[in-house]
Formats: sequence, structure tokens, C-alpha cells
Amino acid sequence: MSTSFNTEHIKQTRLVEQLVAGQPTSDGAGVKLTRVLTQPFQTRLDPFLMLDAFGSDVADEYIGGFPTHPHRGFETITYMLEGRMRHKDSAGNEGLLENGGVQWMTAGRGVLHSEMPEQENGRMEGFQLWLNLAAEDKMSPAWYRDFKSAEIPELTTSEGATVRIIAGRSHGREGAMQRAKTEPIYLDVHLSKGSQFTQQLPAGHNAFLYVYRGQVSVAQQQVPTQRMAILKKSEAADGVEIHASEDAQFILIAGKPLNESIVQYGPFVMNSQQEILQAIDDFRQGRLA
Ligand code: FE
Repeated sequence: MSTSFNTEHIKQTRLVEQLVAGQPTSDGAGVKLTRVLTQPFQTRLDPFLMLDAFGSDVADEYIGGFPTHPHRGFETITYMLEGRMRHKDSAGNEGLLENGGVQWMTAGRGVLHSEMPEQENGRMEGFQLWLNLAAEDKMSPAWYRDFKSAEIPELTTSEGATVRIIAGRSHGREGAMQRAKTEPIYLDVHLSKGSQFTQQLPAGHNAFLYVYRGQVSVAQQQVPTQRMAILKKSEAADGVEIHASEDAQFILIAGKPLNESIVQYGPFVMNSQQEILQAIDDFRQGRLA
């Protein structure tokens, strides 16, 4: 049984500023994916650094997985819609991420980990989001937590939207994770044909949605499947209202910008070139993790 939650009231919806198709690429040991949020959008979508969408029924496109690699300076949030992926890291942690589960990892000063499929066929689908850390937290100890699907708060609104709250709040409910400095909101929303979804968003947050099934519209602007819609910021807009003219599924992501310099070199994201050189040196010398 699911409880019905009243709609969140907003005065004015944000509009769509830009639609983005993303870049087909491969990463790890040949995993095919779409990089939806690419480096040129890191400032516009601060505090988010990257969003990868992966989804394939073809084992060759995911079987190589992501063998051992380092990270420093940010958090990775992996949301597995379907499939099984085993995670191991240099601190001796190990976990299995599967169907609807989330892994939240704070790389902090450094972690070495692998993310490998634990299936030889069938569908593998999900997202990996990179969330930046404030300068003062970039060298904090590494941390992670796995959430099974049942641990992700889920609700159904009175307008017929089903919402899984990975981070932040929606309709008065706390999500699985909260972060004080970046205040991330990460929702997976399922709409049936003719229904709608309303979410309050702080005016200062950068926000976007990514449609992965069907299509939606925001103030009459269509957002087709496999497109990211960057939502325009305006003082008067206190949230977003999203309509579905067909069954649709999307993730809605928002966060408070850090407004700090961003320097990325592969799996390291720091504030200066000097800190990047230090990260590379620490990795080479075995001091990163
Ligand atoms: Fe990784």
C-alpha cells in the first residue's frame, strides 16, 4: 500500500533553458554509455560534474565493467535501474548494487575501486552522477553507503506521480541522503499518461531533468526521451511542473552551486592545477588511497 501525498504547490514553474542530447562514448573497459552532463556544463550545472546514462541488453557493451581506478575530490552516486554490479574498494569495502539500488560514494582525498557487472547477459541500465565537494571537504576521508531499493523512500502523489527520493526532499518526505553544503535533490519520477508532477526548488539551485522513457513537457516545451532539459533560473520561479502526455520516466536533479573553481583531470576534480598534479603524484606513488 502506498500513501497518497498532496501536490507541492508552486507559484511559478521554471522553464526549459536548453535541451541536451549528450555524447555517446565508452569508459572503463569498453562500457558503452551516454555522457549526458559533459565538462562544458560543469559551471552551468554546478555542483554537478558529470551524468552518465548506461542502458544495454547487449553483454559486450557492459561486460568489461570498470576495473580498478582512482577518484579524488567529489562524490559519485550510482543508481542502478536494472542489473547487478559489484563494487570493491581500497578500504576493503565490498557491495552489490542491483535493481533499484543506489551507491553513494564520497571519494574525498582518495579511493581506488572497481565496479564490475555480476551478470553475463540481460539488461544493465542506470546512471552515474558526480557531485562536487566543497574545497574544504575535498581531502576528507573516503566514505560510501549502499542503499537497497527498499531503502529508497518512495511515495505516490495525489496527481498520480510515483517518486523515489534518492536525495533531498519531496512532498514533505526526506530522501535517502542529505548533504548540507550542496543540498542535492535527486528524484526518480514515474508518470502515467495525462498525469503531472510538481516539485519545489530553491531559486538558487541549478536544476535539470533527464527523460529515460517516453517524453514530458514543461510549460508546453517538449522534452523528448534521452534528452536532458536544463531548467532556467529565475527569482520568480519556485519550482517546476512537469506534464506527461504519454507514460514517462525521468530523473530530476538539483543542487546548490559551490561557486568555486573546477579543475578536472579524468577521475580527479580539484580547485587548482597544483592540486591536480598533487593527486596524480599521490596516485603514482601509492599515496592516494
Ligand atoms: Fe569509479
